[in-house]
Amino acid sequence: RDDSNESLGTGARKPTLPVQVGKIWVGGAHPVVVQSMTNTDTADIDSTVKQVAALWRAGSELVRVTVNNSESAKAIPKIVEKLAMMGIEVPIIGDFHYNGHTLLSEEPACAEMLAKYRINPGNVGFGKKKDTQFAQLIEFAIRYGKPVRIGANWGSLDQSLAARLMDENHLRAQPWDAGRVLREALILSAIDSAERAVELGLARDKIILSAKVSGVQELIAVYRDLSKRSDFALHLGLTEAGIGSKGIVASSAALAVLMQEGIGDTIRISLTPEPGAPRTQEVIVAQELLQTMGLRAFTPMVTACPGCGRTTSEFFQELAKVVQNHVRERMSEWKVSRPGAENMTLAVMGCIVNGPGESRHANIGISLPGTGESPAAPVFIDGEKKVTLRGENIAEEFIGIIDDYVET
Ligand code: SF4
Repeated sequence: RDDSNESLGTGARKPTLPVQVGKIWVGGAHPVVVQSMTNTDTADIDSTVKQVAALWRAGSELVRVTVNNSESAKAIPKIVEKLAMMGIEVPIIGDFHYNGHTLLSEEPACAEMLAKYRINPGNVGFGKKKDTQFAQLIEFAIRYGKPVRIGANWGSLDQSLAARLMDENHLRAQPWDAGRVLREALILSAIDSAERAVELGLARDKIILSAKVSGVQELIAVYRDLSKRSDFALHLGLTEAGIGSKGIVASSAALAVLMQEGIGDTIRISLTPEPGAPRTQEVIVAQELLQTMGLRAFTPMVTACPGCGRTTSEFFQELAKVVQNHVRERMSEWKVSRPGAENMTLAVMGCIVNGPGESRHANIGISLPGTGESPAAPVFIDGEKKVTLRGENIAEEFIGIIDDYVET
């Protein structure tokens, strides 16, 4: 956090214990980390490598894959090796449910190559088996020096814990409502499991917590409480957020409120993609959420007006899209050759009403001609009008101006 964030109203980041996941740090004063998850069959090595690579190229700093059977556990070392041969060293996290203790025991190479294990305390086992199997998972984390995420989830809540809290609640003088009891069960499931892991010998700085629900207000309430009651690094995400714009809006609403309060060390936007939409969309949304909040910068942001009756064509919307896609594509190269380019701001505006003003606020802005205006597009660079573009090649010339600005 820097002081300029505070002057804009962003709350101080809640201090948490930093956890190293591969080469990536999560928590403490480290920037909020973007992560995502594949939806391929992990045993299908080529498809999984391809999707991990796409997520990483889009900007995912950690990638989680499901490890649900021995074929997928056997595939992990091969996936990590193939990625390394492609020059991709993104930490791969294994998502375990029900049988993680068996898979890690049978496939030591999987245990070794994963950068972190995700454990769901709600389905690690039942009754006495739960304690034993949880302990086995933690022993593997200790033996291989791996961090874990203890990830409780509303959809797979520890039923015995929920039932116990429901019973205890009947004895209270002022009973909680059922929703509050279940939220408490979710929080306790995460915190108690983490403390049990510490008792078993896992270092506190090897633990990340999450407690995901699918309702925005419930998620905010759960994480505010979780943050007050522990100093473990927190993974934020609205589970089963939904399809398309609903998922984006719900996730952004919940995560933005929490991050504004300084809560959250890594985020995943769990989108159900629209048919045909790339899996990488969730990474772009996570980056845009962090960047629009002023918490991190990934790629130059394009300000564009919505357009109205004063615009003569859809050209300016097309130009805004072309510009955003261009800078996003060039950013992987600029990250190395021109670090800092991600902080550049661009504006593509539809007419003279707000065009010149908004363009002056950006590093580079263009105000396209609206209805009845002269067919000229003034370009502003760092607040000053530098050139006026005309004719058929406005898009190419404007892109050239952006590239020159970054180069020089
Ligand atoms: Fe309409 Fe011009 Fe405002 Fe864009 S800048 S929304 S074109 S009035």
